[in-house]
Amino acid sequence: MAKDRVYLDWNATAPLRQEARAAMVAAWDLAGNPSSVHTEGRQARRVVESARAAVAGAVGADSRNVVFTSGGTEANVLALTPGLVRNPGAPVRRLIVSAVEHASVLAGGRFAAEDLQVLGVDRDGIVRLDDLRLLLADGKPALVSVMLANNETGALQPIPELAGIVHDAGGLLHVDAVQAFGKISFDINKLHSDLLSVSAHKIGGPKGIGALIMANGVAGLDALLRGGGQELGRRAGTENVPGIAGFGAAVMAAQASLNDMKRVEELRQRLEAGLRQCSNGLVFGQDVPRLPNTVLFGAPGLRAETAVIGFDLEGIAVSSGSACSSGKVQLSHVLEAMGFGPELSRGAVRLSLGWSSTEADVDRCLEAWRKLSGALLKHSDETQLERF
Ligand code: PLP
Repeated sequence: MAKDRVYLDWNATAPLRQEARAAMVAAWDLAGNPSSVHTEGRQARRVVESARAAVAGAVGADSRNVVFTSGGTEANVLALTPGLVRNPGAPVRRLIVSAVEHASVLAGGRFAAEDLQVLGVDRDGIVRLDDLRLLLADGKPALVSVMLANNETGALQPIPELAGIVHDAGGLLHVDAVQAFGKISFDINKLHSDLLSVSAHKIGGPKGIGALIMANGVAGLDALLRGGGQELGRRAGTENVPGIAGFGAAVMAAQASLNDMKRVEELRQRLEAGLRQCSNGLVFGQDVPRLPNTVLFGAPGLRAETAVIGFDLEGIAVSSGSACSSGKVQLSHVLEAMGFGPELSRGAVRLSLGWSSTEADVDRCLEAWRKLSGALLKHSDETQLERF
């Protein structure tokens, strides 16, 4: 990244860690296919398996329950499988997802549209537990998918409580932990989650590699890719050895630097205080536990697309609520689900920090905000805030 730039879009992707780069460079020189039995093949296999152990260890899972995928999206789609079962129990035949999930979960995976139900959230973006109890009351076994941390607001869902409700009703819980991974510490057993999705590029690993992690006793996963039997038949195709090596190294580095998130949280608090000081705005999800690095900020009259360009011209990379692959700024489905109207759902700006963020980065961002906010908020109308 250029020295004069300030990167505050870590939830979209994190810069590559040196450890991950070094592991990938070394892996590119491994000639063997991890499925081959000769020395070269076994060298590649060792790299894959040590990365698998690192991913599993980071979330308290068994290595054999980690399936490498092409990223968080594929892990989510792989998880959302009709027929998943936790013995003794009945296979799931329907899917319930929260309204604030990533698009790859909202799309329903391999469930038919008529078997998909969407669960509402409250004003802070937290799943309504009573609504979940109601949806599950008919006794039909369900797979429920709720993210650990929201990519836009950073809000954390009460996963162990949700898991209790889902399991009491004979269902299974999938947790998209893509944003939480490497930012907060968690354990698949303490979350009581049946399946977890993670992705390398959010923690300083390469883009295009991730994993689906299962709890012991979960069965019935239907492979998306069938063929060579790799990943114990759960994901065919020769493993992406350099990507997996980079992922493993990034996991180790991220785990070692988890303590640094306290510092990141203090930076976030400084950022929030500064943003509020010079505008009549609000931080979404501010009253609930959140990721230490994320601020989703809105103010009456603010237009996300103009703000993102304005910040960029000042040398600062931020994003509109949801970093869409198409680059289009749409209404944030997360803010809509939280009950905010189009005025704020279109206008929110997300600032997300990471392990190399500094106080100077925050101060430069606030300096830019002071410079820009007058022009960006010129259509603001004080009375509008009362509606929010
Ligand atoms: N889930 C969440 C919560 C995300 O934020 C993202 C990426 O933005 C994904 C899933 C998709 O992960 P990937 O980019 O690795 O496909």
